[in-house]
Amino acid sequence: MITIGLTGGIGSGKSTVSSRLAELGAFIVDADLVAREIVEPGQPALAELAEAFDGVLNPDGTLNRAELARQAFATPEATKKLNAITHPRIRARTEELFKQGRESGAEVLVYDMPLLIENGEVNKVDHVLVVDAPDELRIERLVQHRGLDEDDARRRIAAQIDRETRLSAADTVLDNSGSLEDLLTQVDGFWDGL
Ligand code: ATP
Repeated sequence: MITIGLTGGIGSGKSTVSSRLAELGAFIVDADLVAREIVEPGQPALAELAEAFDGVLNPDGTLNRAELARQAFATPEATKKLNAITHPRIRARTEELFKQGRESGAEVLVYDMPLLIENGEVNKVDHVLVVDAPDELRIERLVQHRGLDEDDARRRIAAQIDRETRLSAADTVLDNSGSLEDLLTQVDGFWDGL
């Protein structure tokens, strides 16, 4: 089985590419989904977060993400506390899903991970696939299709690694500056190349 690390900046087109690769037969490990799963009600991490931070549970017992983020990113110590609770669980669940992927019989596993490069996880995969589009175009798409406020979109892009750093880590780049159809054609070409 070949493992592909799929990454790209916010709004670059990762989900679009990932869905197409799933249709083509890839086993997908979605890092955002893992991060959400491990703090669902009933999961040990949620109880630990509720113990370590004040008032981070909603009345229905789910995690109040905004409140957690407010407290956890206020100081480096608080961030450390958050990471100590969540990171081991994320790692364990990701490894479990990689194992499931290996056992599934799929020939291709796609690890959809926005922070693949930032977190130094490039060596976890055989091939780094980057979806790329100019910042201005991503901002336009995030505002138009996702309802994000333009300043918010700019702030989020500025908080990520820059485009050049990401591109220099890529084995393959999918250029998403054209139409959706154009992107999907590139995905199909990449798949055929595998
Ligand atoms: P995020 O980082 O927020 O998870 P993402 O990288 O997964 O985003 P997508 O969700 O695939 O990106 O794309 C962002 C938005 O832009 C979506 O609404 C998507 O439909 C739209 N989009 C992606 N590619 C194109 C394109 N080539 N033309 C027009 N719209 C596009």
